[in-house]
Amino acid sequence: MSTPPPADPLPPLAGGAGGPAALRPLLDTVLDALREGALARRGPLPAGGPDAVTRQLLDTAGPVLPDIGTGAEEALRTFVHALARGSADPADPLCVAHLHTPPLALAAAADLAASALNPSMDSWDQAPAASALEAQVTRTLAAEVYPHATAPDALVTTGGTESNQLALLLARERHGPVQLVHGANAHHSLSRAAWLLGLPEPVAVPAPAGVIDLTALDEALTRLHHPLLVAATAGTTDTGRIDPLPAIADLCARHHAELHIDAAYGGPLLFSDVHKTRLDGLDRAHSVTLDLHKLGWQPVAAGLLAVPDTAALTPLGHQADYLNADDDTEAGLPDLLGRSLRTTRRPDILKTAVTLRALGRRGLADLVDRTCAAAHQLADLVENTPGLELHDRPAISTVLLRPTGATDDDIAGIRRTLLTHGRAVLGRARADGRLWLKATVLNPHTTRKDLEALLALLSHPAPLSLPEGSTHR
Ligand SMILES: *Cc1c(COP(=O)(O)O)cnc(C)c1O
Repeated sequence: MSTPPPADPLPPLAGGAGGPAALRPLLDTVLDALREGALARRGPLPAGGPDAVTRQLLDTAGPVLPDIGTGAEEALRTFVHALARGSADPADPLCVAHLHTPPLALAAAADLAASALNPSMDSWDQAPAASALEAQVTRTLAAEVYPHATAPDALVTTGGTESNQLALLLARERHGPVQLVHGANAHHSLSRAAWLLGLPEPVAVPAPAGVIDLTALDEALTRLHHPLLVAATAGTTDTGRIDPLPAIADLCARHHAELHIDAAYGGPLLFSDVHKTRLDGLDRAHSVTLDLHKLGWQPVAAGLLAVPDTAALTPLGHQADYLNADDDTEAGLPDLLGRSLRTTRRPDILKTAVTLRALGRRGLADLVDRTCAAAHQLADLVENTPGLELHDRPAISTVLLRPTGATDDDIAGIRRTLLTHGRAVLGRARADGRLWLKATVLNPHTTRKDLEALLALLSHPAPLSLPEGSTHR
């Protein structure tokens, strides 16, 4: 009879008093791999384009489900290094295509604790303290949006998309099948939410100057049948513009239409004494979308939907005996199921709570102000660089620019060349009938030198020699 091989030790757990001791050496491995991967990348994104990046990843990864595992150290080192090396890293000041934020280190550290403790926000007995913290933070943030309301509240979401869906759902529950009226500048998730909820085909009001045209909105609201829901935007995806919120709220009041404001991008201007007046009128909305994984420097996900009165959320109430039995609720166990359409749900509020406490209102305002100032500096540089054209001064932190005389094809080509060579991540946006390069500045550490380096790349988007293994031009 042969003796069985010694059993591998069971992989340790992250929680409990013993979890941290198991985590600490693994974290050293993770942090080393993050650092080495970023150094190996040598830029804001990996060079070589999709084929080269995929090939490199597959070569490193080997079989993802081996018969015999490689062990924690090796697997963490391999994949964290591969991902860091192959990332488009928003912490690099030349990674400015999207509302893709560089997360704060303190928020990422808090997220580790969320993973280790793994509270699930669908019932109190899975998240006793986390649910109390969530209630506190959501009420506090909702009060920033609705300072004069008596019972403001907010739901935690996966981002602007889910917040916009919930806003439409709540409007439908209040009034039946609402007719959504949004600007042509609105986020695509709004019309998609109308489709998902089986609402009438949304009406898009022109936004020729990047914001909703008020005359056209007035006409639409006069012509359309009730119930009506207007969605305005505070920080558009393409140009970062803010719709004229007070005038839109006036029109909604006159036409008995409800108002939702998508402030996924612009919401955190509320923290800044310099910029908050630009959100005047926000608190006249029936619901407001916020997204702290944009101008709030949180790791994904950190969305919110704020409402002026917690009673507006009652339509989401739902009962499942194993999570919120009536007698448990009557005995005082908080009923959490109506706080989301999801069931199992991460305690995403922890990183936000840590960030709000660590930085305070002033610290957040400083980050907002610095970020907006960096975008203005970029606009100044564009204006002062011969051969470059600026679309407009930034409303928040988005700058559209193009080389003078370039065609739309040239613009698209410059963007892809910079991507392929791993030199810069710029976005694209159509405005005034032309294609522009888009820089969405979200990194408060951005310096003038970084911005000069970005602009210098535009006249020479390809390096003199192709990177090794490149298959794209
Ligand atoms: C980013 C954004 C969204 C979508 O948010 P996600 O977090 O990506 O789901 C919706 N509206 C606006 C204005 C946005 O900027």
